[in-house]
Amino acid sequence: MNLQPRTVTTPALRIVSRDQHIISRRNISKAALRVLYRLNEAGYAAYLVGGAVRDLLLGTQPKDFDVATNATPDEVKKLFRNCRLIGRRFRLAHVVFGPEIIEVATFRGLGDEDGEGDRHIVDGRIVRDNIWGSIEEDAVRRDFRINAMYYDISDFSVRDYVGGMQDLEDRVLRLIGDPETRYREDPVRMLRAVRLAAKLDLRIDAAAMAPFAALGPLLIEAAPARLFDESLKMFLGGHGVKSFHVLEQCGLLKFLFPATARALARGDQALRALVERGLENTDARVAEGKSVTPAFLFAVLLWGEVRDQAHLAIGQGADDNEAWARATDKVVTEQCQRVAIPRRFTFTMEEIWLLQPRFEQIQRKRVFRLMAHPRFRAAFDFLLLRADESMAMRELGQWWAHAQQLPQDVLASALPVSGGKAGDGAMPVVKSAPRRRRRAGGKSGSKPGST
Ligand code: ATP
Ligand code: MG
Repeated sequence: MNLQPRTVTTPALRIVSRDQHIISRRNISKAALRVLYRLNEAGYAAYLVGGAVRDLLLGTQPKDFDVATNATPDEVKKLFRNCRLIGRRFRLAHVVFGPEIIEVATFRGLGDEDGEGDRHIVDGRIVRDNIWGSIEEDAVRRDFRINAMYYDISDFSVRDYVGGMQDLEDRVLRLIGDPETRYREDPVRMLRAVRLAAKLDLRIDAAAMAPFAALGPLLIEAAPARLFDESLKMFLGGHGVKSFHVLEQCGLLKFLFPATARALARGDQALRALVERGLENTDARVAEGKSVTPAFLFAVLLWGEVRDQAHLAIGQGADDNEAWARATDKVVTEQCQRVAIPRRFTFTMEEIWLLQPRFEQIQRKRVFRLMAHPRFRAAFDFLLLRADESMAMRELGQWWAHAQQLPQDVLASALPVSGGKAGDGAMPVVKSAPRRRRRAGGKSGSKPGST
């Protein structure tokens, strides 16, 4: 399998010596350094590569450290006890240090155009790719120029084969090679462009942007599981708002989240506000190191379509519960054909949606039952995001925020045992708890809780 590396010309090779770049070993994880040194001492070439080099050059902390080497996966395995080989499409070594995994990839070659060797191309897409190559070949098969720089542990220089340094200076994202060919090989690269542009605040080069309109539909055939992973990276990576905007501006949203694109195209400003606020909250939580759940986020993205379909069916005379159940089911099924959201998340999304109409039922038993629901907190946070849908919805959010702060007996005595729905004029006025000061003339005096 170890083919002779083909020579590729990389006329742009620029070797940036240690005194001319800012990468310091202090900012590289100990685990990655150990892997690099060990490989190097055993006589192999060893480089830090990809996103880590790019991020270090930008002065930010990488989220993981990948290593590239001329040692084959089996040779890597022999050097490290804590090593396992993974992958079929790309065979890789994972060297495990407690919670940290250093991914070690053998230089990958370009192989034969006709798909011989261990590269298999189907309809222009790479389905298997285990041809080892030279560092030059490894560089040019990467996606963006800023992702093809190598930090050499033997002399601490950075090897820039395709002009990545220049792009970082120009703050632009350029593809290596012909954009159309590169997107056809792997349509997910279009989403990587969006994500990296958003995350690093880079402009997408006009040539890299141009094929989006024509090739965007290829995303429909991309593996839904991979699109789920990529969606999480876009929306839960701390740059969700920006990623969403870039995705929309690039015209790619409709291929990934057709229902969201449709609802937004109807000019639904409340949905836009909901999506933006949901993503802002998520970004803020990520920045604070708090946990975030994909379920809440996907519930936010798809809400407009779920709500509109449910209301449509109810307007046509369908039973409320049935209309909501059908709408959630339909939207989830459609979405999962594009982006494979695992069942445990779709289940939570459905719960969040199905609890929404129950916030409008202000009766004693129902209020307490809803508050005791395991998904109450998430559903309530969701309700608050819906504030822009109507004045009534904003008040409903405030009502529930306030109700939660009241002692149970005070709340119970304010609630009717039976009655109509919120918005029917049946919403009970809940008075402030005795300890709290009442705002003059204010009917509830509470502010919506933070999400
Ligand atoms: P992040 O900081 O989000 O991890 P990254 O660029 O490191 O961004 P990874 O998915 O970790 O993204 O990929 C590591 C490297 O592998 C990239 O920098 C790039 O060089 C290469 N790579 C990843 N995906 C592709 C792809 N689809 N096509 C070509 N090269 C890719
Ligand atoms: Mg990475």
